[in-house]
Amino acid sequence: MKTSSKTFKNQSTKITLSSTAFMLKRCCCEKNGRVYIFFQSIISLLNVMPTIVSVLIPGLILNELVGNKRINVLSVYVGITIIIPLVHQVINSILTKRLATINLALTVKLKKDFNEYVADMDYETLENPEIQTLRTRVRGTFIQPLNTANKVINLISTIVSFLSISAIIATLNPIIIVVVSSVVLANSLITKKLNIIQYLNGKEISRCDRALLPFQGILVQLVYAKEIRLFNLKEYFTNIILKKEQEINEYRLKDVCNQNVANLGYLLMNLLQNIFMYIYLIYQVLFNSLPIGNMTIYMTSIAQFSGLLSSIFNAYTELSKDSLNIQEMIHFFEISQSTQNFGCETPILNADSIIEFKNVFFKYPGAENYAINNLNIKIELKNRICIVGENGSGKTTFVNLLTRLYAPTKGEILLNNRNINEYDLTKYQELFSTVLQDFCLYELPLSDNIILANASNNYLLNNVLKKTGLYSMIKDLPQKHNTTLGKMVDPEGIIPSGGEAQKIAIARALYRDSPIMILDEPTAALDPLSEHEIYMQFHQMIEEKTAILITHRLSAVQLSDLVIVFRNGEAIEYGTHAELYTREGIYTEMFDKQAQFYRNNPTDSSKNLQ
Ligand code: ADP
Repeated sequence: MKTSSKTFKNQSTKITLSSTAFMLKRCCCEKNGRVYIFFQSIISLLNVMPTIVSVLIPGLILNELVGNKRINVLSVYVGITIIIPLVHQVINSILTKRLATINLALTVKLKKDFNEYVADMDYETLENPEIQTLRTRVRGTFIQPLNTANKVINLISTIVSFLSISAIIATLNPIIIVVVSSVVLANSLITKKLNIIQYLNGKEISRCDRALLPFQGILVQLVYAKEIRLFNLKEYFTNIILKKEQEINEYRLKDVCNQNVANLGYLLMNLLQNIFMYIYLIYQVLFNSLPIGNMTIYMTSIAQFSGLLSSIFNAYTELSKDSLNIQEMIHFFEISQSTQNFGCETPILNADSIIEFKNVFFKYPGAENYAINNLNIKIELKNRICIVGENGSGKTTFVNLLTRLYAPTKGEILLNNRNINEYDLTKYQELFSTVLQDFCLYELPLSDNIILANASNNYLLNNVLKKTGLYSMIKDLPQKHNTTLGKMVDPEGIIPSGGEAQKIAIARALYRDSPIMILDEPTAALDPLSEHEIYMQFHQMIEEKTAILITHRLSAVQLSDLVIVFRNGEAIEYGTHAELYTREGIYTEMFDKQAQFYRNNPTDSSKNLQ
């Protein structure tokens, strides 16, 4: 039992030291980090001087007043008490400003590095809820390596002060050092225990915070405002939020209670120490002719000694507490950033290019069933392909695999007879312009929402605005295509309707001008007229490009060269619309059902279904 707790302590010391060294190395990798450490070390070493002055001078003055009463000596003592802190303060203020500038610049750089790292992670990895929690937890540690540097530098300067004070106390009686050290040791053990409990509590609080996050702004955010009112959801969500907040508060209260118990422990220990010291020093003054000034020096030294020793223990415990976060951070950065980006080939498309799904199975992380179940299809990239199927049949998953957001669990996907993983990920993904079902609009001008990271080209922009029917919308906007989407950044911005938003997403994909367009339910938010209009214009829009259109509405199928019918993750039927329809299988059934719906709906205008 003893051995195992010793091993644990050794391990924890090892982890503390290696984590601290890791963070210091990180600081030293950055030029700003090295400059910061240099200046902060100067400030911290200068901190030792006022400490020593405050311990020695009042006692020396007292001895001089009781003894020789020399004015010149007294003047020197007073001069020192004024000048030393003053010089220290001036140097401190000059360097502190410089340090703050360096700190801010470094934090900006590290925030950028962190965001870029996460943006480069595989989507599949990032989607994992545990990774999401880890990401929020480690961000603070990553962007503030100077915290560790500060703690180490302060620790060193505290050790220097501590050794100076110890030397003063040792002239009285070294046993005192042992007594005071024991009290400090007991206090630091209390702190260490408290830190571990607080860390575990903190983990629970993070977990609860994560569960609360999706509900936190629900009652006040505009996106939810309509549904909250129409479905009378105020009380429903208030109760959910209250329950989750109560759980968090219970953990927070636990923290407060534990802190109170610890404070009581500190108080008792310090009381015992003071009683012992006063009895000892008064005895020395009364019976061993210890000068009264020396008694003051020793009392202050002892107070400083325990303070400094506690600071050393606390600084170490802080470093060991931080080491748990640092280990988490190291673990986060060890997660393979990309499981797919091994290839370096450049994909080249030509008229004969073929994408082939060969015995492909895919299961989402943590899911029981396969979302794609032994998929075998060949797609000639010169075609316009329409993928149809009921909800949940695997159409979006097919796009996720095709665009390498996920990798197949089994089987392989080939482009021109080569596994798609052999191609450079970025170059491969450049082949696709995808309109996702859950596309995002950003609080940027409308035109920037379309151009995004591509080169600006007014001709192309106007072209896609016309093709998608956005041109007429823009004409009526206050700042035309410079109008911001959303009202958070610019109160004069607009909130596009579902249909307008979808047109913007389509315009964005067209502007990217990739050889393969993928549209996943591109018209779900459009009214039947606009839907019909978009499909009719679709041929012109995509020009010579390959198009993969995913839809559960069948009004688009007649425009495509190949229709693939998905069911339970399999491509159960494929061929042209005419071939499939005459086969009288699943496709015919689906098509007739929808045609029936439109026929019976007098407001509908999708006559092309008939
Ligand atoms: P479709 O696009 O045809 O509606 P999907 O490809 O979205 O179907 O979904 C196929 C199956 O995979 C469904 O059972 C769905 O619940 C499941 N699924 C989709 N996305 C995820 C995900 N991120 N994690 C776990 N299961 C998912």
